Amino acid sequence: MDVTLPPNNNMNKNSLFNSIISDHPQYSFKPGSVFHWNPTLNLISYQQDKIDKDSGVWSLLHELGHATLDHSRYYDDFQLLIMESSAWKQAQKLSKMYDVLIKQSYIDQCLDGYREWLHQRSKCNECGTNSLQCSPSKYHCHSCLNVWSVTPLNECKQG
Ligand SMILES: [Zn+2]
Ligand SMILES: [Zn+2]
Repeated sequence: MDVTLPPNNNMNKNSLFNSIISDHPQYSFKPGSVFHWNPTLNLISYQQDKIDKDSGVWSLLHELGHATLDHSRYYDDFQLLIMESSAWKQAQKLSKMYDVLIKQSYIDQCLDGYREWLHQRSKCNECGTNSLQCSPSKYHCHSCLNVWSVTPLNECKQG
């Protein structure tokens, strides 16, 4: 009987993940609970259990996007959304070097998550008007003049 074994895709992705890491010795990489770029420590965290999955490779490239664009901090929620979007654009550029195609629908889904989060944060709990952020931790309703605090989200996290 002639049996042809299918190529071991997980093994391939695993080595892809490792070669992306070894191509970027200027950053530290460490397993963690989420994909995460920490500009203070120059450290990219990754989820060990995702390194053999497409989405794991995409998330790693996304965090590298933040790192290579030198994203350090942001001052308001809207700026975070812009940084998220540009990190994905950078990830797409990087992905070409590794012959990886990041699914556009995956990117859209991630950005929609941020948009939804932004929408919820900016909604006045008194009158429901979507309002403007006046500091990293405060929103101000232009309609009923309600002011509320939010926790500044300092870094990108891909869960
Ligand atoms: Zn209001
Ligand atoms: Zn991000």
